[in-house]
Amino acid sequence: MIIAKNAKTPDANESHVLKMPESGEADHRFHFLSPWLTAQIPKAIRFDPPMGSHHGGLIYNAQKFWEMNEKRGGHHTGDDLNGIGGMNSDLGDPVYSAADGLVIYAAQSSPGWGNIVVIAHKTSDGRPLHTMYAHLERIDVSSGNLIARGVQIGTVGTANGFYPAHLHFEMRTSDGVDIGAGYAMYPLNRLDPMATIFTLRNAAADDLSPAPLAKMGLL
Ligand SMILES: [Zn+2]
Repeated sequence: MIIAKNAKTPDANESHVLKMPESGEADHRFHFLSPWLTAQIPKAIRFDPPMGSHHGGLIYNAQKFWEMNEKRGGHHTGDDLNGIGGMNSDLGDPVYSAADGLVIYAAQSSPGWGNIVVIAHKTSDGRPLHTMYAHLERIDVSSGNLIARGVQIGTVGTANGFYPAHLHFEMRTSDGVDIGAGYAMYPLNRLDPMATIFTLRNAAADDLSPAPLAKMGLL
């Protein structure tokens, strides 16, 4: 489902500072999202892991959130999710949107990051929450797409061969597009991704029900 692609301001007041971009996409020259984009972010009443089964089966976490990595000079800012086959057996596996949300970034930010998708969500009590999916082999969505939980947004990759295939998955309380680094000394706006998923999952631990909107192929 793509919304606001053709939205235009109602008149020709070209100088209006809040004029919506023709494309409806985020303007990455600005750190914060425009009020127009913020208003489009849907409330997410359920979250699921972004790989494997809906309840977190068939994957393992090779490098957990905030583990210290001396070689990289900081704490890990996400979870490194892998298929249970190990090494590159999960290369090309589907990566799913963890919840209903608005794609606010879908691009390669640097060779070491590889392809990245960032999705903005609103929690059921209205707080902003971003999920970030990095090192993707392929991106299947575009900035500005409104997507459902469980929609395939890309595939597991190696960040241009820098790593064995895995998904670097992050979660942040953020109002803007902020790619940052994968290792840091302070957590700032980063949350423990998989712990947050299971806190907000809003379904029984063994619930495998797929998202109805994703089953309908809505994107
Ligand atoms: Zn990582």
